[in-house]
Amino acid sequence: MEMLPDARLYIDGKLRAAAGNRTFDNICPWTGEVIGKSADASADDVNDAIAAARRAFDQTDWSQQHEERFALMKKYRDLLFANRDRLVQIVRLEAGSSIGAAYRAQVDRALSGMDDVLTCFPSVTWEEDRGRRNEMGFDSDRIVVHEPLGVVGAISPWNVPLYVNVGKVVPALLAGCTVVLKPAPDTPATAAFMGELAVEAGFPPGVFNVITSADPVMAGEALVKDPRVDVISFTGSTGVGKRIMETAAATLKRVFLELGGKSANIILDDAPDFAMSVMQSMVIFHAGQGCAIPTRLLVPRSRYDEAVKALEMAYAGFATKWGDFDDPTQVMGPVISARQRDRVMEYIALGQKEGARLLAGGKARTDKGGGFFIEPTCFVDVRNDMRIAQEEIFGPVLVVIPYEDDEDAIRIANDSDYALGGCVISASKERATRIARRMRAGAISVNGGLSITGDLPFGGFKCSGVGREWGREGIEEFLDSKVIATRA
Ligand code: NAD
Repeated sequence: MEMLPDARLYIDGKLRAAAGNRTFDNICPWTGEVIGKSADASADDVNDAIAAARRAFDQTDWSQQHEERFALMKKYRDLLFANRDRLVQIVRLEAGSSIGAAYRAQVDRALSGMDDVLTCFPSVTWEEDRGRRNEMGFDSDRIVVHEPLGVVGAISPWNVPLYVNVGKVVPALLAGCTVVLKPAPDTPATAAFMGELAVEAGFPPGVFNVITSADPVMAGEALVKDPRVDVISFTGSTGVGKRIMETAAATLKRVFLELGGKSANIILDDAPDFAMSVMQSMVIFHAGQGCAIPTRLLVPRSRYDEAVKALEMAYAGFATKWGDFDDPTQVMGPVISARQRDRVMEYIALGQKEGARLLAGGKARTDKGGGFFIEPTCFVDVRNDMRIAQEEIFGPVLVVIPYEDDEDAIRIANDSDYALGGCVISASKERATRIARRMRAGAISVNGGLSITGDLPFGGFKCSGVGREWGREGIEEFLDSKVIATRA
């Protein structure tokens, strides 16, 4: 496997090594081998990054110069686009993305999402004239100014590193905030490369900083605790999200959380090509490591046997079509780490213990080399109260649950702590839309409609999150309102 160049910290406009030249290994999910060294930030490095971001926000005109920021972000966009192949190579190597997933979901959607956010930028209202009002016997002329919130600590996960990093950093910078980005220890190179391109784009010192760290907690927690940080924008697991919200309460900072999911895919009994719809529900994309992937398949009991047969065929046909680093048609590779593989395998054992029937897969594949491979896996005869139906597995595991009628399908779909995405498929758009409206989740696809794009707000209800990213809403999340009233 080829090596990635060393990943350096980006602090106060400069690329640099961590204090004491400390580094940590970047492990490739395809092989389990070291593919690069990343700077291992110390507490002092994190402190330097926060201080730089604070200084850039408080002591420069970054937050005021909307047009200059916009021009700079367009230049940054051009650099990211020009380095598309390099970005693909990095996410393939460090996130374990197969080529089919790396171009499409990992990089191209991040880049087109960036374009969407840039397109939304001119529609942001910075100032509103709320007119004159006579109150208490005199007139006041009032304006409402929408101002950036300040220093943002952006904490991201490993599954779609470029997509999530762009979804946080670009809207925050466009809003006029300054940012310290802390990626997951598993995917430091993507973030470090974003730092390198920021140097090339000529970002003013301190407006954007990147700190990589081997310790999954230290740097992120330092951002959450530090009173100089005004906002935490976090994407990751619900457990860590809850802890962040609790810790952030001490300094009462804003917290945006994009968390886990267990989205339901409801196929109705009148679905036009029922077998095909069922077959397309396999959880294979990026080995199931996507927060909004519909991992609970709900099928009508009246057509349950037909659905199980279709899935059996689909999984049998897919058996050799995954796990090849070089095959451009493939969308499934390994899971991110040995730890994640073991976690997913524990869920597979649990499903069997809970009484679900293993229809396909279920094995870790050590015969595919030193990487972290798990077979595409499908459980049928699942009840929604089983842990494999309630908890996020974050691996290539589909659970199939029968339902009685539309009401029952809605009840099961909503009977979850998670509420991120969902799908409905039916011959009747009206029937499907009626159900979509009753589903409690942030993004619902009807008959295959694309519900997650860079010009739309994305986020979850319930334990799937707080706040929205992307689209105009994604920029506005980083703004606050201030009133200036002048006695006339
Ligand atoms: P994770 O919660 O373990 O870690 C996410 C990030 O938080 C990492 O950078 C990690 O180093 C950091 N972190 C860990 N503990 C911390 C703490 N106490 N304080 C501050 N930071 C801390 O998640 P992960 O395993 O990297 O990613 C998988 C999870 O991310 C899944 O649950 C998935 O659903 C979720 N996810 C959600 C979305 C979304 O938009 N809703 C998108 C992608 C991934």
